[in-house]
Amino acid sequence: LPDYLYANIRDHADKPALIDGVTGRALTFAELAGQVDRLAAALAELGIGRGDVVGLFSPNTPAYAVVFHGVLRAGATVTTVNALYTADEVATQLIDAKARLLFTVSALVERADAAAQAAGVEEVLVLDRAEGHRALADLLATTAPVPEVRVDPVEDIAVLPYSSGTTGRAKGVMLTHRNLVANIVQSQALMSLDPARTRVLAVLPFFHIYGMTVVMNHLLAIGATVVTLPRFELAQFCATVAAHRINRIYIAPPIAVALAKHPVVDEYDLSSVEVLFSGAAPLDAELAAAVRARLGCAVRQGYGMTEMSPVSHAIPDDRDDISLDTVGLTLPNMECKIVDPVTGAEVGVGERGELWCRGPNVMKGYLNNPEATSATLDAEGFLHTGDVATVDENGCVSIVDRVKELIKYKGYQVPPAELEALLLTHPRIADAAVVGVRDGDGEEVPKAFVVRQAGATDLDAAAVMSFVAERVAPHKKVRVVEFVDAIPKSASGKILRKDLRAR
Ligand code: ATP
Ligand code: MG
Repeated sequence: LPDYLYANIRDHADKPALIDGVTGRALTFAELAGQVDRLAAALAELGIGRGDVVGLFSPNTPAYAVVFHGVLRAGATVTTVNALYTADEVATQLIDAKARLLFTVSALVERADAAAQAAGVEEVLVLDRAEGHRALADLLATTAPVPEVRVDPVEDIAVLPYSSGTTGRAKGVMLTHRNLVANIVQSQALMSLDPARTRVLAVLPFFHIYGMTVVMNHLLAIGATVVTLPRFELAQFCATVAAHRINRIYIAPPIAVALAKHPVVDEYDLSSVEVLFSGAAPLDAELAAAVRARLGCAVRQGYGMTEMSPVSHAIPDDRDDISLDTVGLTLPNMECKIVDPVTGAEVGVGERGELWCRGPNVMKGYLNNPEATSATLDAEGFLHTGDVATVDENGCVSIVDRVKELIKYKGYQVPPAELEALLLTHPRIADAAVVGVRDGDGEEVPKAFVVRQAGATDLDAAAVMSFVAERVAPHKKVRVVEFVDAIPKSASGKILRKDLRAR
């Protein structure tokens, strides 16, 4: 991956590669490449090389990219850690990945130290400054030579990101250099982004595969400018878009909900935005239309998973004709089929089945988990995504929901995502989630968790149920409603239905 990146950035030496959206500080492509080399030299001095794992536990900043690529340049493997994790969760990942070093930021240093101690990590280093810790700047001061490393692009693990943990414990995913480069090339082949005029807001976390590949690596590889934000906070998001005249933003659906519904959006000039690209969870077409109307931009959607580095489907920029009810076309160099998950037989156009994908971006396997690997990757190299999908006559794929999340009501299958999208069209509902719960007869029924819009205190369960009942087939009716203050979501923007079920 570093070789691929360098080959592409020589033309952009003095252009800002990354701008810190909070401080305004910029890092040019030449500075980025220089710092990546220096860090690789310093890591080699510390004895870090092929086969070693380095943890990276930080929100988005320009220095994130320096550490990420510096570790790869040294021939080692990065394991990216969710910045919202507790010390115990960080420790679990560091132990599983056998990390030798951990990079973090001063704001997270206490959690990092506790986790590192529990996991036997040799040293905790900081991207900024923290008492008692060596800083990235100290390592960059080294005069040691850049190590001559040759990785095996097909066999060596470049990154060990963890899946979002939406359905269970997060799984370490082994991605090779070839996997990561393939997905950049595939994405660029479908999107043909022009680096000269693409200014992107990186608000999705780089530790998750979506922010890592689609935002950080793809855009740096083509020479576009990336403005980083450490977290999603609506007013700061809008202010940063306006200040940097951002024209392309990668989002997850919770950001679309905020952009469609929150009054604060009207206070900012967001006219520079040309494309909002949503992924990671289902985006409802009506919600997308509301955002498009409010911001006056195009909305696109893609689909992927950590195990595919991550993208397998996307709506290209120039395809206004593709419906937002779909996740678009299969990326070049991938094969996909929709099958009956039991027999493996392909289903017809418009019929539901499990989506299976094969291509150069598909993972090597799960870390320390051969059972899960063989249950997911078959002998022919197809990854069984666990998602129910359909395909239309033009090859556009729609994601229905996860196989495991479908609610089985009296023999019918009810996709919770469809009901969530419907609930969000209610003007007095700010957010919603649906899960299957057992009723008094032991029957699984759809239950809605609903967040009222500010001021909608008189919205009651009966009103919510009749709103749904008027719009869906009888078996899909919501039969239980609970009002909550917020819907639990993962850092990558997914509804944590397992947490709701556990309540
Ligand atoms: P875990 O595997 O740990 O339970 P996860 O599957 O949520 O967590 P990720 O790899 O981050 O972890 O997410 C991949 C999943 O996200 C896909 O399998 C799919 O269910 C969902 N997804 C991604 N993009 C979309 C989309 N555009 N529409 C619907 N679902 C999507
Ligand atoms: Mg998954």
